[in-house]
Amino acid sequence: MNRTRFLEHLDAGLARIEAWQARWPHFEPAPELAVDDPTVAATLSRLADRLQDNYPFFHPRYAGQMLKPPHPVAMLAYAMAMQINPNNHALDGGPATAALERECLDKLAVMFGLDAPLGHLTSSGTIANLEALWVARSLHPDRAVAFSEQSHYTHARMCEVLGIRAVPIAADRAGRLSRADLEAKLYSERIGTVVATLGTTGLGALDPVHELVELGSRRGFRVHVDAAYGGFYRLLAGGERPSVQRAPFEAIAGADSVVVDPHKHGLQPYGCGCVLFADPSVGRFYRHDSPYTYFSSRELHLGEISLECSRAGAAAAALWATLECLPLARAAGLGPVLEATRGAALSFAARLSRSPSLRLLLEPELDIVVYAPWAEGMTAREIGDRTQRVFSALMADPDDPAYLAVVSVPRAIAEPALPGVVWDAPDLKVFRSCFLKPEHLLAVDELADRIELAVARDREVQARPTSAP
Ligand SMILES: *Cc1c(COP(=O)(O)O)cnc(C)c1O
Repeated sequence: MNRTRFLEHLDAGLARIEAWQARWPHFEPAPELAVDDPTVAATLSRLADRLQDNYPFFHPRYAGQMLKPPHPVAMLAYAMAMQINPNNHALDGGPATAALERECLDKLAVMFGLDAPLGHLTSSGTIANLEALWVARSLHPDRAVAFSEQSHYTHARMCEVLGIRAVPIAADRAGRLSRADLEAKLYSERIGTVVATLGTTGLGALDPVHELVELGSRRGFRVHVDAAYGGFYRLLAGGERPSVQRAPFEAIAGADSVVVDPHKHGLQPYGCGCVLFADPSVGRFYRHDSPYTYFSSRELHLGEISLECSRAGAAAAALWATLECLPLARAAGLGPVLEATRGAALSFAARLSRSPSLRLLLEPELDIVVYAPWAEGMTAREIGDRTQRVFSALMADPDDPAYLAVVSVPRAIAEPALPGVVWDAPDLKVFRSCFLKPEHLLAVDELADRIELAVARDREVQARPTSAP
């Protein structure tokens, strides 16, 4: 959306809110809040200067961390709702945005195949997971929570916050939670809930949710799915290429809870996570008797079923408007966006398989690709050092920059892709790219060319004899 159209939509939206505000008697805004125009202009200009100190998250040449700007529709809707600034901690904080939040939740529930779950938006995936682990503890106060060593680092932290015993489970060679290790730990530990990740943060791996749900029903543990990153890929599960594995995504419908972050693949600004519980009766754990928040409504408020109090109603408005324009469907809406991001990862991986100087470490399961500079005879430490130098050189090139991320991969996961490497380090530093934007689809070949060039230059520089004093 170009700036002119954006401003027209914004103007029309704000005019409607202003007309609504005009239904109340006129009053003079407080003079204490007035700021003169030159000061505003100068401040925003300084802000624009300060904001230049950033990486170009919007650009396809940024293929690093999980970052991108939200959809313009989300920004417009957010700006409109912010004029009112409703607080979704309670129906009385903003009935309209509470209703919009419910509609979003219904759509997410349908996507996951959950029938009438209990849930709400949160300010982040971390808080959404905290809530799921808190319910896990409430149901099984004396049992542990297990999660893979490749799961998000906040699970261990949140277990600490909640005082739950945490049981780390090994990852297998594909970076997935190892079922064998879990089964072994089930003998020595009392595990109440297993966290399964769909789209691990480092490697983008899919834990076998289908196997865990089945095992859980036999062995008596609950399954919480952390799909903060990968959840929206439910839309591509099975079906035509580019697809993602069907079974783990379909199994979300049989899990006890699921977390998804609309502020990752749902085109939202930060401040939008979501948690859903299959069994709505867990709402009983949230009971509290705040004397001042709830006075007019009978049904369960969003605020009565969330750990957080204040939450931006504008976040619900933004997600609602985005899903109206880009529905949760395979054929039109978010589906084609994800087909492009998934397609970008597959096409980048295929390009790497033909590369003389880059190696794919794992077949990507979503849109996160991990890969390493490689040449005959390199040791693990040399690969890591080259990764680090090329990463910095690419970012520092003013004429032809590229932005990647670096991740540390355990030897057991990296080894199969790098036969013959001498392991002089316990793990390996390699490149990691999250292809989060549909524009990546057409940019991956050129990106691979650019990285190969940087690797070749690094090799030349390193091969030069160090000059004598
Ligand atoms: C991003 C992420 C989180 C943390 O979510 P925030 O929204 O950053 O707090 C947790 N788990 C996974 C798998 C993630 O990708």
